[in-house]
Amino acid sequence: MTVTFDLNRLIATRLTEIAEAAWRDHRIMPIGDSDGRVLQIGTAATRERWVCGADHGTGVCGEPLLTHRQTAELLGLLNEDEPVLDPELPVTDVELLDEGLGGFFPGSLIHFSDVGREYRKAQG
Ligand SMILES: [Zn+2]
Repeated sequence: MTVTFDLNRLIATRLTEIAEAAWRDHRIMPIGDSDGRVLQIGTAATRERWVCGADHGTGVCGEPLLTHRQTAELLGLLNEDEPVLDPELPVTDVELLDEGLGGFFPGSLIHFSDVGREYRKAQG
């Protein structure tokens, strides 16, 4: 008997599990590769990969959520550890697939409006 180790299927299964847990626990959802909105700050742009469906007290949020790496890219920061120091909306911890490193790693998602606020703060 031959056992085929299908990495792509393994990854797809894990992504589905993460997506289900993220929706169940946090009301956030991943966006398909080509479906995300293009998010622009200044001259930098990135594509939406997660969306928030939580209610922070004013109805369903609907904002894009950005990883630390996306946030650092948009803000032009070299250090992506704490790209937004004082977010107004909740930051959500979630496992993210890092295709560069080839695995799943804990990450955080930041609301796009908080990234924009941080950008305007930096502009003075
Ligand atoms: Zn939200």
